[in-house]
Amino acid sequence: MPHYCPSWSRTQRDLFFKCPTSWVLTYAKHDRQSSFKSLHTVSEWNLMLRSLKATIVDQLEALRSGIEWSESVAQFTLRQHLKNHIRLAGRMVGSVRAEALLLFAQHRMRLFWRTDVMVELVGGTYPQWSVLDRTESEHVDGYDLYASPDIAYFNGSKWCLVRFDMQGADESEGERLETLAMVVWSLQRQGLPNLESKYHLQTIGWRKGAWITLSRPVTEQEVQVARDLIAKDVAAMSVCAEASTRSMAGVALANDPAECLDCKHKVRCLNGNTLEQKKRLRVAKLCSEDDY
Ligand code: SF4
Repeated sequence: MPHYCPSWSRTQRDLFFKCPTSWVLTYAKHDRQSSFKSLHTVSEWNLMLRSLKATIVDQLEALRSGIEWSESVAQFTLRQHLKNHIRLAGRMVGSVRAEALLLFAQHRMRLFWRTDVMVELVGGTYPQWSVLDRTESEHVDGYDLYASPDIAYFNGSKWCLVRFDMQGADESEGERLETLAMVVWSLQRQGLPNLESKYHLQTIGWRKGAWITLSRPVTEQEVQVARDLIAKDVAAMSVCAEASTRSMAGVALANDPAECLDCKHKVRCLNGNTLEQKKRLRVAKLCSEDDY
């Protein structure tokens, strides 16, 4: 497995459970950095959400350095991020559609800065806080864990680990695990406490037209359960990566054809077949050579 280094992130886990073949082609057979950066199959809506988040992170970093942005600077930065994301994705988005996406993002951005946590940060309620880089991993139990919070602040007794959820979907098992994984990540992080009881969790998520902040304490037991679940995921991924080195025919395909619609490996994987036809071909080839 020359290209595979065990690692875990929520995105990776979600893909692995949706389609092991897509996971192998993204994380176990290719350069991981380029896979992370690929925007080609991201929808316009998600490009808008990514641009919004990038702008919020830039604004928080400026605030951390003592610089408060005006609304016009924030809106200019948002526009630039959206332009860049569209360009990197190789999309042709008409000006009317682009302006509509910007309006959605501007509305959410305005409301974001009115959430209690952001008002308190801007007001200087928490002298100790930092913006963290979501692409930085920590090494845990032999794998790289990508589960950084977006920000962490000290409220006088505990460190609050905050995740921004731009998607607005109902909380899934993967999201609950990701939230607890922030504690596993933080326990390893230099400069943060290595005791579960010193943490508190917050998610600021877009839900039905408003930003909702969910807060909850953390127990040592649930962090241990999360750590065990992540280790199981990593073990299953490692077995799958190892199997793929012998033959891709032994790696499972997606269960749901809907997963194939936006898959960046669709041409290579299905090669003009339907998912059902591909599955039959795989079964026929199981005892023969790799079909890639
Ligand atoms: S096309 Fe479908 S089966 Fe093939 S890798 Fe993508 S999601 Fe998986």
